[in-house]
Amino acid sequence: MPGEPQADCLFCKIVAGEVPATVVRETGTTVAFRDINPQAPTHVLVIPKVHYPDAASLAAAEPQVAADILAEAAKVAEHDQVDATGYRIVFNTGAGAGQTVFHTHAHVLGGRGLQWPPG
Ligand code: AMP
Ligand code: ZN
Repeated sequence: MPGEPQADCLFCKIVAGEVPATVVRETGTTVAFRDINPQAPTHVLVIPKVHYPDAASLAAAEPQVAADILAEAAKVAEHDQVDATGYRIVFNTGAGAGQTVFHTHAHVLGGRGLQWPPG
């Protein structure tokens, strides 16, 4: 079934509580937790509880959950008080763009100056 947990997926294990994470927020459809290798003072990953490999496949199959991720990203920014100074929401899509975990996740980055273009 599309969206079902995958046994070999790290982020499905975080959703299931089988791998520990520093959870910032949780909703019925999403989990937000701190990145283990932070690239900014605020670096939080927002993931859906359902398993899809990337943002595009999630948006195609379950658009409301894709929208939930964006709403949660904003809540995380408020939680960490980076909403006023600005933050970035990034969905790396494909290995060529740096995606290493193939369970949809939004990076929420803030708390420092962020260059554009990102490189
Ligand atoms: P990406 O490279 O866009 O696929 O992002 C995957 C992110 O997951 C990277 O920023 C990693 O640092 C992060 N990551 C990997 N393992 C963990 C973990 N166990 N807990 C939290 N973040 C993790
Ligand atoms: Zn997964």
